[in-house]
Amino acid sequence: MFKRVLLKVSGEALAAGRGFGIDAIFIHKVAEEIAQVARTGAQVAIVVGGGNFFRGVAEQAIDMDRVAADHMGMLSTVINAIALQDAIEKQGIATRVMSAIAMHEVAEPYIRRRAIRHLEKGRVVIFGAGTGNPYFSTDTAAALRAMEIKADVLLKATSVDGIYTADPKKVPDAVKFQTITYMEILKLGLKVMDTTAVSLCKDNSMPMIIFSMREEGNIMRVVKGETIGSMVTA
Ligand code: UDP
Repeated sequence: MFKRVLLKVSGEALAAGRGFGIDAIFIHKVAEEIAQVARTGAQVAIVVGGGNFFRGVAEQAIDMDRVAADHMGMLSTVINAIALQDAIEKQGIATRVMSAIAMHEVAEPYIRRRAIRHLEKGRVVIFGAGTGNPYFSTDTAAALRAMEIKADVLLKATSVDGIYTADPKKVPDAVKFQTITYMEILKLGLKVMDTTAVSLCKDNSMPMIIFSMREEGNIMRVVKGETIGSMVTA
């Protein structure tokens, strides 16, 4: 059983079948699972993505300034953070949203020591606004926060149940890695996370488990230490 985890939830995951925005039924299911984990005494911090609303890189392609687009992307992660907060609190678990971009009326500012204090008190901490900087991703924010709060592991919830030699949706005989190193991910050019996030984890020996959030009960399984998904080590 892990004591302190950093769970990365992508925006896409929250959109579930809808492709855009937030799927109300799915977010409540996810919140139920997170609350269940928090009740066991495990400390849960979450980094949410924003791809279900806005992605900087994609907008740049239609001639938008990258920095402006990234600012919009980061704000979209705050929308998800508040939705997740609302859903988890409905389960009777105390939460705090901490934003990397100051917006005092909506969320606490990110202060590392305060985040750790919240976790020690059993509150689920949701980190919004990524790293607060353009040209980064929320995967990089997840790697960074995991290191800052000294999480035991980075848990990346996706729609695929691990890392494969090729995209299993396109290549039917793709093989799943039970374990893999960050170096192998880079060498094989596997699209697991962007290279900034991979290097951060690699250089600081932060282990990561990639697993599917589509299957109910998986968040609890992975926190308990069951071998699901793919494990990445330095
Ligand atoms: N973003 C950013 N800096 C960060 C994190 C995110 O500028 O530190 C912006 C970026 O435009 C990104 C968007 O926020 O495309 C949404 O985040 P991401 O694409 O990582 O979300 P996910 O794919 O996890 O839903």
